[in-house]
Amino acid sequence: MTHEADPISRLSARRGLRLGIMGGAFDPVHIAHLVAAQEALTQFGLDEVVFMPSGQPPHKKRRLASPEFRYRMTVAATASNPRFSVSRLEIDQPGTDYTVDTLEYLKGALQPDAVLFFITGADAVLDILSWKDPQGVLARCTLLAATRPGFDLSRLASVLASLGAGVVGTGPEAKVRVMDVPGLDISSSMIRQRIAAGLPVRYLVPDAVCDLIDSSDEYRPGSGI
Ligand code: ATP
Ligand code: MG
Repeated sequence: MTHEADPISRLSARRGLRLGIMGGAFDPVHIAHLVAAQEALTQFGLDEVVFMPSGQPPHKKRRLASPEFRYRMTVAATASNPRFSVSRLEIDQPGTDYTVDTLEYLKGALQPDAVLFFITGADAVLDILSWKDPQGVLARCTLLAATRPGFDLSRLASVLASLGAGVVGTGPEAKVRVMDVPGLDISSSMIRQRIAAGLPVRYLVPDAVCDLIDSSDEYRPGSGI
């Protein structure tokens, strides 16, 4: 399969870059992922958002759809937006399973004045800050925490408080910035369950993603997912 050069090498010489990284399993990618990325782009004046599908994430025990298929779905979902792109970094490079490792790699690959924003749902901030080296993550990027239906933000506040005062807030000094996004009660798990139950997922995922799912066996019963 041919694809454009990895966006990180394309962006490596850019001075003053404000880069959003949208991490996730994208199993499959859905419209709430795209809405969160678009809101981050607009609300924080980013130049571009790079989607970064994970390899086999340390926290997910369930077998995921293949990395190549998750990559293809993410490329299809983002193709129409010139400010969105997809990186194969975590899929192709062993040892970038943790957010802190990915951020460290990006810091080395980009210009020293590049500013990194790691975009997550509010639930995923808790995951990131409970895996490996939370202070290292916060030293290398600003975390943008998109509100997510059903997620109680006070849980986030108490975990952040345990990491040191003053890291959460809405002001520019905060290392974790809560980002209001239109509430969409959609998850990849819900989409997988709907596919397994024979229910439609069109309009919950972009059309091109729906077509890829329809023409593959990745989420069919018996595929182990
Ligand atoms: P799963 O149900 O398999 O965990 P998911 O829908 O949470 O899938 P992920 O790939 O785990 O999707 O998430 C990637 C990122 O997108 C995470 O930071 C997650 O919090 C965020 N995200 C996913 N769905 C939403 C949503 N509906 N609103 C806001 N953020 C979301
Ligand atoms: Mg999730």
